[in-house]
Amino acid sequence: MAKAKQKEVKTPKIKKSLATPRGMRDILPEEFLYYDYILKTARKLFEYYGYYRIETPILEKAELFIRTSGKESEVVHKEMYTLRTKDKGEVLALRPEGTAPVVRAYIENALFNKPQPVKLYYFGPYFRHEKPQFGRYREFYQLGIEAIGDPDPALDTQVIFLTYLLLGQLGLDKKRIFFKLNSIGCKECRRSYIRELKKYYKKNYSKICSDCRRRLKTNPLRVLDCKKEQCQEIKEGAPNILDYLCEECKSHFKRLLENLDALNIPYILDKTVVRGLDYYTRTVFEVFLEGEKENLALGGGGRYDLLSKSLKGPDKPGVGVALGVERLIETLKKNKIKLQLPQPDVFLVQMGDEAKRVGFQLLEKLRQEGIKIAENIGKNSLRAQLKNADRLNTPFVLILGQEEVLNGMIILKDMRSGLQETFAIDKIIKVLKERLKK
Ligand code: AMP
Repeated sequence: MAKAKQKEVKTPKIKKSLATPRGMRDILPEEFLYYDYILKTARKLFEYYGYYRIETPILEKAELFIRTSGKESEVVHKEMYTLRTKDKGEVLALRPEGTAPVVRAYIENALFNKPQPVKLYYFGPYFRHEKPQFGRYREFYQLGIEAIGDPDPALDTQVIFLTYLLLGQLGLDKKRIFFKLNSIGCKECRRSYIRELKKYYKKNYSKICSDCRRRLKTNPLRVLDCKKEQCQEIKEGAPNILDYLCEECKSHFKRLLENLDALNIPYILDKTVVRGLDYYTRTVFEVFLEGEKENLALGGGGRYDLLSKSLKGPDKPGVGVALGVERLIETLKKNKIKLQLPQPDVFLVQMGDEAKRVGFQLLEKLRQEGIKIAENIGKNSLRAQLKNADRLNTPFVLILGQEEVLNGMIILKDMRSGLQETFAIDKIIKVLKERLKK
């Protein structure tokens, strides 16, 4: 049958005042396939390693993020969406990140009483009021894992290894995956490093950007994260935190590197990876796919040994990673990993009320037999339904009119040859299965 030309209906432009807010998007079915694919692949892998799903509320007390990420972190200082409740005037925030809520849940639900470490993963939307651009949205999904309750670098290794395995299992070329790795030490060794870093930056004060000048006062480690051209040379000459680590932090990091080597996980040491949030201690890392122009991290994570205590919970260390789902999807698509909505094998055309009733029963039988069928059960016109089938490009169409219903028959039309045959309705599943096998 010749393919009918579809008339595209012009999309009416929605009023600006009613459109999605800037930086937020609808996720349509074709796109959601990728979200499902990532979650399904992750679930299988993570559960195998004993990580189970947790979901925390989208709204949390703003104080949770202020206390953990730090008042001066970009995430809190510039990007957090907050609102005041109508009754008590409580300040709530749309969660900008996943680790603090998971650790809050760990404390609030006394998960520290379970065998440690508690291993969790999460998948859901997060919100940051950033300038929208490629790979940066105001609502984005994160897929994260957290292992809470064990300080051993084996857990850091496992988190990094799972990230590596997942990216490979999603179909990305493992040879191109690599980690940028650093240790930002504990409170003690970081203090002496920050002193040196400040000294060095103050010497170069006239050359650095205004953001770095501010950071130097509020969040000095973040100067190493500056992307501005004018600061690059200064950044390169900055002291390296690895030279300031105390013996314990040094040994922790060394053991992590030995584990990664044993597992053949590619990494480079990068003194500028510091992560933006106050709660990180020791291991910090970001993961990339080599050769991607934008050079955006697919994800990042690290150890947060003081986070639980800072929330007045027990002294429990933790380590985790968060991957940006939209960035993953963009990378999957760019690397030719294509997903499509399921293609139906058959289209059921029915005409008249009686045919609809029989049609409902038939649809159910076909579904139970695993035959993928499409229909347009609200319609009665043969022409409209055939047009629909043609648009879906199904190889077969079943036609059920009043006459066929009366005789217990059904018409099977082969859409490629145009050939029509009539069969007893109770034989049609067998016939269809044979035809589809061919
Ligand atoms: P972060 O903890 O900020 O490093 O976030 C972890 C990962 O989430 C990043 O590596 C990105 O892949 C992703 N991500 C962070 N912010 C955004 C955003 N605004 N839009 C899209 N993805 C983001």
